[in-house]
Amino acid sequence: MRGCGFVLVCASLGAAILTGLVLSASARPPRAAGRDPGSTLAAETPRRPQESPELRAHAVDVADYTLKATLDPEAHTVAGSGAIHWRNTSREPVRELWLHLYLNAFKNERSAYLRERVGGRGSSPPEAYGAIDLKRLELRVAGSASVDLLAGIELRAVAGDEDETDARVPLPREVAPGESIDLDVAFDDRLPVVIERTGYRGHFHMIGQWFPKLARLEPDGTWAHFPFHHLSEFYADFGTYDVTLDVPAAYTVGATGPVVESRVEGGRRVERHVESDVHDFAWTAWDEWQTARETVDGVAVTVLYPPGFGGVAERALASLRFALPYDSARYGRYPYPVLTVVVPQGDASEAGGMEYPTLITSEGPWLTPPKVFVPEIVTVHELGHQWFYGLVATNEAAWPFLDEGLNQFAEIDAMARWQGEGSASGLFGLRVSDAAIQAITSNGAVHDEPVAQAAHAFSTGSNYARLVYSRTAAVMDTLARVYGDEAVGDALGRYTRSYRFEHPGPDEFLGMIRDTLGPRPARTLRDALFDKGWVDYAVDDVREHSALVRRRGTLSFPVDVELVLADGSTRRERWDGEGESKSIRWAGPGELRSVVVDPDHRITIDANLENNAGTAGGARAGAPRTFERGLYWMQLALQALSP
Ligand SMILES: [Zn+2]
Repeated sequence: MRGCGFVLVCASLGAAILTGLVLSASARPPRAAGRDPGSTLAAETPRRPQESPELRAHAVDVADYTLKATLDPEAHTVAGSGAIHWRNTSREPVRELWLHLYLNAFKNERSAYLRERVGGRGSSPPEAYGAIDLKRLELRVAGSASVDLLAGIELRAVAGDEDETDARVPLPREVAPGESIDLDVAFDDRLPVVIERTGYRGHFHMIGQWFPKLARLEPDGTWAHFPFHHLSEFYADFGTYDVTLDVPAAYTVGATGPVVESRVEGGRRVERHVESDVHDFAWTAWDEWQTARETVDGVAVTVLYPPGFGGVAERALASLRFALPYDSARYGRYPYPVLTVVVPQGDASEAGGMEYPTLITSEGPWLTPPKVFVPEIVTVHELGHQWFYGLVATNEAAWPFLDEGLNQFAEIDAMARWQGEGSASGLFGLRVSDAAIQAITSNGAVHDEPVAQAAHAFSTGSNYARLVYSRTAAVMDTLARVYGDEAVGDALGRYTRSYRFEHPGPDEFLGMIRDTLGPRPARTLRDALFDKGWVDYAVDDVREHSALVRRRGTLSFPVDVELVLADGSTRRERWDGEGESKSIRWAGPGELRSVVVDPDHRITIDANLENNAGTAGGARAGAPRTFERGLYWMQLALQALSP
């Protein structure tokens, strides 16, 4: 999900106008140590590495859903029925199941979701409520009648709490490790007016989180279950989804997985979609969908867009032509045969900016200036989620930085590779990089609360956006500028390949960073994510033959120090950045005129850019370079504009 994308892009434009042409005219910081910062980045084509032979072909099948869903687009209801096959892959026997009934988040204002309105999208109650009503839940028993589980279900599993999104289902007997069970289900969905990426608007239907869904059982036998919190997303086991959708014949359907059967009979369109190695299933139906199809990097891509949005659809396709092969090369090949991009109409934008396996929703008004990369950024972002949540299926509720944060870094990395440093906007010749925006917006929230915490623990939606998305991405981007783009990209690629079809946590991620980049970057990253780490490099005192450079804060990076001599020539010194300060002695010919710490601006998370330079004589010069000056003003402007 991209909760804050539009705000950030809008803020960047405001800042760009304030900063004037300074950014476009001046030197741009390199993304990698030693790399020419010139325009070659944008022209680079991704190389496809040989897939390592150990790249897993399939997930362990844990939860298989065979469902039939019938849409009434006038009443906005879905009648669902089918079976769930589930296997206990933990080490422990279980006596209960936990079922997510996510649609009940929109049932009334007493749901956890609507009680926790902390700002951001979906903060108003829906224009019409929605809910899931479980009609049947039975455990099949070989050789005898099924056992009804509905009578014993605890819809409100927490005493005194009226939330009904997280239900406990006691079982009549133990299910041993390795043993499977089969459940028969039937349910009625009443869809809400579109809110938080699900619901309807007129005949437009985007249907996510719509069926009774088993929580994931962790290897130690504990259920990772939770109510649908306002800021949190999801977590589930992999399996095969075999879903037959039944809609009026005039409707076009888009859904997770390829169509394996399609027919029109009795005025109805019946489409069966089947996909393995996924952990969710979403679909859309509308009688006005326009369709664009193209094979991109061997994947059959379908873009569904409203009449008049052909330009947005083309921009989504253009984004995929770059990003699909790029992400596949970097994070391990996209393994599914299809990908559907849904571009919601303007009055259904609540459905935009969301990820499901093999189906993403983009966004962008029909008229977006060509150099304002809103449809591109959202498409690239949501595509990245096919890896960061899809293939590497982390617990989005417990550790949102592992999906949204790392995916935000994947987004800024892909946008920089594709569009160069003007990756958020190149409007009017102003170039504003996505990476610089993430760094600047995140500094404002860093002292409030840690990045690495559960989604529901964040105090505001604004801090969730600035810390989970922007801070994670900015810290990763700083590591890339300091330790090398390729090194950090390779580390992330080894992580996504090693944990493909698995459910890693922070320890696995940081362990991979330690094993690939080394202990110091891993420690820095842990401090930044778990301990509100920050840093401010500053030039404190410059004299004719000496200077003092300081590192404030709790993070440290090796850094360059540039000495500018009286004749205008420059020398560079390397500081390991470990101590709190470094004295610089200049014994060479001529006198020091000024000193700049981190002259290439690799440490984009530097809390204060104004003190990065000083001149002899004690007066603080401010950053002498137009680039840093521009960033400084942008820092101020974004602090004023961001939420
Ligand atoms: Zn996202």
